[in-house]
Amino acid sequence: MTHDLTRWSAARLADALGRREISAVEVTQAHLDRTAAVDGAVHSYLHVDTRGALEQAKAVDDARTSGAELHVMAGVPVAVKDVVATQGLPTTCGSRILAGWVPPYDATLVSKLRAAGMPILGKTNMDEFAMGSSTEHSAFGPSRNPWDLDRIPGGSGGGSSSVLASFQAPLAVGTDTGGSIRQPAAVTGTVGTKPTYGGVSRYGLVALASSLDQAGPCGRTVLDTAMLHAVIGGYDPRDSTSIHAPVPAVVRAAQSADVTGLRVGVVRQLTGEGYQPGVQARFDEAVALLVDAGAEVVEVDCPNFAYALAAYYLILPSEASSNLARFDAMRYGLRVLPEGIDDPSAEQVMAATREAGFGAEVKRRIILGTYALSSGYYDAYYGQAQKVRRLIADDFTRAFEAADVLVSPTAPTTAFRIGEKLDDPMAMYLNDVATIPANLAGIPGMSLPSGLADEDGLPTGFQILAPATHDDRLYAVGSALERQLVSRWGGRLLERIPELVPAGGSDDQHAGATMGMAR
Ligand code: GLN
Repeated sequence: MTHDLTRWSAARLADALGRREISAVEVTQAHLDRTAAVDGAVHSYLHVDTRGALEQAKAVDDARTSGAELHVMAGVPVAVKDVVATQGLPTTCGSRILAGWVPPYDATLVSKLRAAGMPILGKTNMDEFAMGSSTEHSAFGPSRNPWDLDRIPGGSGGGSSSVLASFQAPLAVGTDTGGSIRQPAAVTGTVGTKPTYGGVSRYGLVALASSLDQAGPCGRTVLDTAMLHAVIGGYDPRDSTSIHAPVPAVVRAAQSADVTGLRVGVVRQLTGEGYQPGVQARFDEAVALLVDAGAEVVEVDCPNFAYALAAYYLILPSEASSNLARFDAMRYGLRVLPEGIDDPSAEQVMAATREAGFGAEVKRRIILGTYALSSGYYDAYYGQAQKVRRLIADDFTRAFEAADVLVSPTAPTTAFRIGEKLDDPMAMYLNDVATIPANLAGIPGMSLPSGLADEDGLPTGFQILAPATHDDRLYAVGSALERQLVSRWGGRLLERIPELVPAGGSDDQHAGATMGMAR
């Protein structure tokens, strides 16, 4: 029974908790047990908060027993990407430079999780400072894809995607600056949403590129993802870019799954050449399934998307080089004293610390960004990139006149092998070709599984994009497609993941039998 709870959707857990059929402690313990059994192989977590999570769960159970009115999600546990500040819990952002840092405050989204009574299981692994598409740039070693442990779980939020696909948590929080929620969802067969820029507070996130960063929900179903979106979304006076409006009706949209008469625009520039055949095939099928569900399909052109990657890789390093200047060894985090210098200056300590504390990808981007912002080059690089950004936003504006949502494959390929692209930054960057335009324009996007590629049997992602503040449309379309796909594939895809725990291994006696079938 308790083993089974890790297979339940968040919606089902919430319902059973509300009826007092199960307790929050039982649910939380089941997930912690699962982590003890499988995370040695998957490495989704940088930090597991066993005691804290059980304390929060107990508090929920006590409150429920005393008859208190609780949030619908009370007692449903959640994992949080390590870029998000959690009071009293280590927050490293995947970097050695923050190793050992324990924030004295909670990010707003964490306060919201706590207020809803959602126990925080732990902090998930990520590429250092969220720079990457594979988690291989984590200073603490990569996470692995539960579909095939030799492959990447996507990045930068590969901890948050693999934690879901390995049933260690029913929900997770991620952040998406150029695709770090959507691409990991795509390659693990899970769901993830990047809300409209400003839809979820950035207060308490370690900043990568402030004009692009957006926290968002990850789940195994569209409805679960919507339920988490509703918890973490909303206006925050502490974030000056926060949207001053109620969270779009995402849960209602997910429940309705109504796409009748909806115009779905296939982005010509984000399909065809460069996309793995199995990814393209599952995408084409998914579009046809949306037509079966009542949608209309149109083709749209976004010619300036050709320059999106180039613009992003100037804007992101520029903002990152400025944001990462705060890691100066003076106020918090790592401090390394230079060798062979008796009385080092502050600058010498900073240099020694940043040399030792940052990984290669972070240094690469700091150098690139510093260069792009330097006088004499500012207009040629950063200024030009900002102009391209405007052209991309204009492409979206035009496309959304012809279509209510836009769709594409989320990533050009299924999960690649660990090590495959590590020495080739350009190849790694190309994985974000379909996700980056949404960040540049600030619009919301979702990835949900569209099936398995014929050539490798690995999950493929379907991306949905909507105009700013219309996040609810993602959930209506996502749910409609999910329903079609469940019947097309005869059940949920994740049920096909091979068992991670060898029979007779450290998990209880159910191991081996339940992965795959139980729900
Ligand atoms: N993979 C992209 C990058 O390396 C996106 C990162 C992100 O969204 N945090 O920048």
